[in-house]
Amino acid sequence: MAQIGDILINSLEFAREMRRLTGSFPVLSLRRLADVLANDNGSLSWVALGECDADHKLFLVIEAVGELQLKCQRCLGALTFGLKIRSRLQLVPEGAAWPDEDLEDDRVDPIEALDNQSLLTLIEDEVLLALPIAPRHPSCQLPGYDDGSSAVSPFATLAKLKKH
Ligand SMILES: [Zn+2]
Repeated sequence: MAQIGDILINSLEFAREMRRLTGSFPVLSLRRLADVLANDNGSLSWVALGECDADHKLFLVIEAVGELQLKCQRCLGALTFGLKIRSRLQLVPEGAAWPDEDLEDDRVDPIEALDNQSLLTLIEDEVLLALPIAPRHPSCQLPGYDDGSSAVSPFATLAKLKKH
């Protein structure tokens, strides 16, 4: 099977023919995520669907599911993020009018239709949009921060010694 990074589609054709492609790829393929990841373990499963509606408007539906190890913005440790996206993208052919934002369904985002659309780039764009802005563990400390609760008190150590 072709590597995701090599898959280029003619997006209008893909939509018009209502094609469907599916696969999975390692998280490390998402190079633009490098800064926000604690590590690149794991993989993502994806589906790309072409759609043509009754008005002959053309769409690409991008779905991706998997787990990302995001970097916690407080302790810089790994934070597991369950990613599940489904984006419906309206293809706007070159030279065609861009859909009016106010009138359009806000569940649909317009994108420029390309002859050589990289599926990986498209999936990566959607993943980036779906990430939390400042991911943090519900409770954690800055590295090096010590509020005394994690350190063993010298008295506790002493008490332990006395028991034996
Ligand atoms: Zn943290």
